[in-house]
Amino acid sequence: MNRDQLLVLGLREEATTSSTTSLPQMNDSTEMERMLEPVIGLEVHAELLTNSKMFCSCAVVDPTTSAPNTSVCEICTGMPGTLPVINRKAVEFAIRVALAMHCSPAETSVFARKNYFYPDLPKGYQISQYELPLAKNGFLAITTDQGSKKIRIRRVHLEEDTGKLVHKTSRSLVDYNRSGVPLLEIVSEPDMNSVEEVRSYATSLRSLLRYLEVNSGDMEKGVIRFEANVSVREVGSEELMTRTEIKNLNSFRSMIRAIEYEVQRQSGLLLSGLQVKQETLGWDETLAQTLPQRSKEEAHDYRYFPEPDLPPLRVDPAWIETIRTSLPELPTEKKNRFVQSYNLSPYTASILTDDRAVADYFEAAIAAEPDLKSNKIANWISGDFFGLLNEMGLSVDESNVPAESIARLVLLVEQGMINAATGKQVLEEMIKTGARPEDIVEEHDLAMMSDPSTTRSLVVQAIEENPEQLETYLAGKSGIADWFFGQVMRASSGKANPTLVREILYEELQRREESRRASG
Ligand code: ADP
Ligand code: MG
Ligand code: ZN
Repeated sequence: MNRDQLLVLGLREEATTSSTTSLPQMNDSTEMERMLEPVIGLEVHAELLTNSKMFCSCAVVDPTTSAPNTSVCEICTGMPGTLPVINRKAVEFAIRVALAMHCSPAETSVFARKNYFYPDLPKGYQISQYELPLAKNGFLAITTDQGSKKIRIRRVHLEEDTGKLVHKTSRSLVDYNRSGVPLLEIVSEPDMNSVEEVRSYATSLRSLLRYLEVNSGDMEKGVIRFEANVSVREVGSEELMTRTEIKNLNSFRSMIRAIEYEVQRQSGLLLSGLQVKQETLGWDETLAQTLPQRSKEEAHDYRYFPEPDLPPLRVDPAWIETIRTSLPELPTEKKNRFVQSYNLSPYTASILTDDRAVADYFEAAIAAEPDLKSNKIANWISGDFFGLLNEMGLSVDESNVPAESIARLVLLVEQGMINAATGKQVLEEMIKTGARPEDIVEEHDLAMMSDPSTTRSLVVQAIEENPEQLETYLAGKSGIADWFFGQVMRASSGKANPTLVREILYEELQRREESRRASG
């Protein structure tokens, strides 16, 4: 008698040991270690940015600012006798994601009950999709140092989020504001073989969801959550080994750490001839360890059945086509276009296209000064500008700097009005005050000093004031020339023309070296 037949009778078999696989033992363990590779598949949950919940008209509210249990009704708290109604916007958002990931949306999909008990789930079941998901069989292209790769998408389906437990020292509270918030689950095939690929997949997916305007990408608010399925196998093997599943990973950082830990742990087991047990794990941030949560058998006793209170979801093919034509230019397409038309490296292009607002900002700057080389603007934005914003904890939108101002700053540097170091100083001032670059240069008298005789007197002064360093130079330590360069730049308050300074400094040092040689 099989398990399903037993379940129908209300009986269950004695717990059996879970299925396991192990590698053939090898003598040389370092040799072996080199031959193991991780195999990773991700299940990603993303909240959808609809106004109302998945099956009722309660507002979706910000968990960080709303008082608990203020956006709840009898439907999302699972009162008997209530009926759910599917939110059309959530379906539209899900189709947007499915199409952007090259999946084929199903004309008919079916909602199913996933039954389990937990205090954050007052209904005792979650409405999800099981056998007939909204969409299947797509891919997401990722890029790492190793090049590009397509990660296949197995399925994309709609479900509802659960409430949230708040644990206090002696008791736990529950907030149902999140109950019934539309949730999209995106399941990949086990196609990732390194943490770099996982990071690229996760960040590309987040970027895609934000481009499509279906998710805010605010990881700190828990709007994207990951589950990682991890196994380890011999390089070159196509076999899928026994995997573990790590639940509830809420940040890129913990996901990467958890996967790294798990790959190490499993490799260690396999290398000592032991077996990996199929199980569900949690990630303990403080212990920096994965820990067993519950056994596979319990986890899969969800007794899925079609949701009797909802009709099958039928999606008109014409609607799908309308959604397809309304899709914006997506990150990968934008990135390729940036590489092509702006002559950028793939790396810079991906920094500039990861966030749609940044990409728009860059293009506005290009449009403001069309004669400037686009890669100069790209380097300033992706380099110093992002660096400074990062230090100040600001986003591009929050910065005081209009795209035209950045473009004019780059122009000032390119025209030789100011040197690059001063440019960075001006940029900092622009971010702080919102002032125009020309005005800052004028007000602080920052224009570059390119007059050869003044520059030469600064160089000579630096050399003559530092006889010890000069001796070091003459003794053959030519690297100290950089130190002299720094002195001259400092003496000019950073305004000297660096190219000119280097040129004259070289001449002056060279001359002294020759006269020393002649006299010695
Ligand atoms: P379940 O529904 O039991 O969680 P699935 O077979 O649907 O299991 O797989 C869930 C996830 O696990 C998918 O992302 C899939 O890519 C991944 N996965 C399946 N087998 C393996 C494996 N051997 N190693 C790593 N990941 C795996
Ligand atoms: Mg799973
Ligand atoms: Zn409600």
